[in-house]
Amino acid sequence: LAKAKGGGDTGSFDIGLPNAVMGKVVTRFPPEPSGFLHIGHAKAALLNQQFAEMYKGRLLVRFDDTNPSKEKDEYVESIIADIKRLGLRHEPVTYTSDYFPQLKECGERLIKAGHLYADDTPVDQMREERMAGTESRCRGRSVEENLRIWSEMFAASEEGLANCMRVKLDMTAGNKALRDPVMFRCNLTHHWRTGTEYKCYPTYDFACPFVDALEGVTHALRTSEYKDREPQFYMILKLQQSVWPTLPDVHIWDYARLSFVYTVLSKRKLTWFVNNGLVDGWTDPRMPTVQGMMRRGLQLEALREFVISQGASKNVTYQEWDKIWSINKRIIDPVCPRHTAVETSARVPVTLSNGPAAPEFVEVARHAKHAAAGTKQQMRSSSLWLDQADAQTLAEGEEVTLMGWGNCIMRAVHKDASGTVTGIDGELNLAGDFKKTKLKLTWLAQSEECPPLELQHLGYLVTKRKLEEEDSFEDWVNKESKVVTAAVGDANMRSLKQGDIIQLERKGYFIVDRAFDAANPSQPLVLLNIPDGRAK
Ligand code: ATP
Ligand code: MG
Ligand code: MG
Repeated sequence: LAKAKGGGDTGSFDIGLPNAVMGKVVTRFPPEPSGFLHIGHAKAALLNQQFAEMYKGRLLVRFDDTNPSKEKDEYVESIIADIKRLGLRHEPVTYTSDYFPQLKECGERLIKAGHLYADDTPVDQMREERMAGTESRCRGRSVEENLRIWSEMFAASEEGLANCMRVKLDMTAGNKALRDPVMFRCNLTHHWRTGTEYKCYPTYDFACPFVDALEGVTHALRTSEYKDREPQFYMILKLQQSVWPTLPDVHIWDYARLSFVYTVLSKRKLTWFVNNGLVDGWTDPRMPTVQGMMRRGLQLEALREFVISQGASKNVTYQEWDKIWSINKRIIDPVCPRHTAVETSARVPVTLSNGPAAPEFVEVARHAKHAAAGTKQQMRSSSLWLDQADAQTLAEGEEVTLMGWGNCIMRAVHKDASGTVTGIDGELNLAGDFKKTKLKLTWLAQSEECPPLELQHLGYLVTKRKLEEEDSFEDWVNKESKVVTAAVGDANMRSLKQGDIIQLERKGYFIVDRAFDAANPSQPLVLLNIPDGRAK
């Protein structure tokens, strides 16, 4: 198995799964269709795949759709598309809702065996009783009574709606997850798949062990903050096996939930950003969603390498974004073409006294060390643009190198009263030695053909470095998460396509979010800055 190169805690895959048999391991990725996949889900998906492959086993993908109030088919489509994007090799997709009949049957058998009881204790009181370890007055209801109410629950009668079905585990257990958790509850919301057929649904706690076992999952990977719930999973599965003897065992294996600094990773919170118009939907490149991040230039290989470098660690720590972006940079830098741009509001005209009379075009490599990137036409003329920041550093009479062309002596640097450079007179000195110049400048020949650019620098969505569960993230919204600069680029950029990744000389890496449109040449090409993992 490939180990991550250069990562921190590597070697994690030396830790195997307990009781794993080569060729027999079955893992699963169980997304709930209540939002788009984010980078935490990507970790879960890739880790499950990694284990399935390590043991030459199988990976299942199952939509965990037991809560009709949160789920939508729109999300199913986006998740299926993301699973493809992540390159998961998995068995045909299943749905927990496929198993509603068996889950209902199992529930019924457990009532008959005396393990489940209907409870109509008001919610607040039930919570208090659970905290105090007090048994519900309904715990002693007879099997007949429970079966009768069970039918009422599926019929959603007034009595049915007042009840939920709980499992008798241990009301005095120190572990509160064992204090008779709810196994079925009524919900009248239209289910995205089964419509109005059911009015009562299994909870996640009931459905998960049953369906994992029924589908033959040998190892259920769960994030370690649910460690407390492990005994509950095993106890419920054991009861289910007692009435459904063909159910095999499932081993839980826990790993660290992924968190990043300055980031919310929860579908509920991300939904809030979407619904409040703070981003342009789930695929906004500022979103930590799979689609948002890939749109911003994150390569699948980088994501995979990052996940593997974290591997099986169980310690929940906040990750730095720099780590994943620097892996990404290592992947894109050797291959992405180079282009040139100058900022529109900060460009300085340069007039060359001895430049070409008419524009000349020279074929140059798009990437000096990567021939496959192809070539581009470098335009040379007597009227150039420089960046103001570079112009500021020039001394009159200084010899500099125009990158990719040759040396030039800056004869006059004109400034206005505030010190802004308004123009430069230069004289080419192509015989000059570029090794002897201090400044190597990015320049662009002035041309009608230069496409307008919109450079977007994207920031975090929140301003707090470590958002804790109890923080109200709404108080930490970054109102300046997008900074847009107008620029012009070299004419070759007209042929870039959406999704192409380039480096703008001395400005960083960018991905084309909207290509140039010859039919609408004044509409700017949109380029998103790809972080390169270097602290700014
Ligand atoms: P959220 O609501 O925060 O997006 P969830 O756990 O409710 O997460 P699910 O769709 O149920 O979302 O998650 C699918 C799988 O992804 C589960 O196995 C879950 O444990 C895992 N997962 C979710 N968030 C993370 C994360 N931040 N890091 C690692 N795994 C995660
Ligand atoms: Mg979940
Ligand atoms: Mg959640």
